[in-house]
Amino acid sequence: MMNKCTSCGAPLEISCEKCPYCGTVTPYGEEKFRERESKLRDDERKKALENLPAMKFVANSFVAVLYVVTMGLYSVYWYAMRLKPLNSLGTKSKLPAWLVAVFAVMYAGLFLLPPEITEYIVSGIDEESAYTVFDVVLSLVILSSGWLAFITRKILQEHAAGFMEKSQAVNVIAPSALMLILFGAGYLQIQVNKMIKMNMFSPKI
Ligand SMILES: [Zn+2]
Repeated sequence: MMNKCTSCGAPLEISCEKCPYCGTVTPYGEEKFRERESKLRDDERKKALENLPAMKFVANSFVAVLYVVTMGLYSVYWYAMRLKPLNSLGTKSKLPAWLVAVFAVMYAGLFLLPPEITEYIVSGIDEESAYTVFDVVLSLVILSSGWLAFITRKILQEHAAGFMEKSQAVNVIAPSALMLILFGAGYLQIQVNKMIKMNMFSPKI
């Protein structure tokens, strides 16, 4: 079986991709080229998925239970465990480790040293001052928790901007500031779950 070169008319083998006389690519050669291109794209897509940064998946319902049962202490655990993976994403924004530490220590302080106890431990402090200290620490916990939540949202949105338009990422990833303030890490984990489904993270169970 022979073919003819479309350019110079030379007789060609049917499996010939390129005319050996004038270099013109045969229709068979074009088809082969397209096949190889498409396989290359598939391989690249597969490789891109394999190279996705890993983030832990926690079922949405379980996140809600954890958050309520631990009285928000889940947030402390969440930031401590996600600090490294979040800061390894290569985004411009980073979570400051000291802020996570300050948040954790102050939050623990609220549980371990309620004003009724502070009163007895710290000599010379009266009841009123003990409650004032508690209120100050509580405000700092709320402030640092909100601060951490907003930085994390920024990191997630910057990561998502590698997969979609930046304006779209802002609308899709943790769009509600109110939810972010109210549920902090709980809301953020649900965003991570969503991003795993959107192939922006590989899930780590
Ligand atoms: Zn030819």
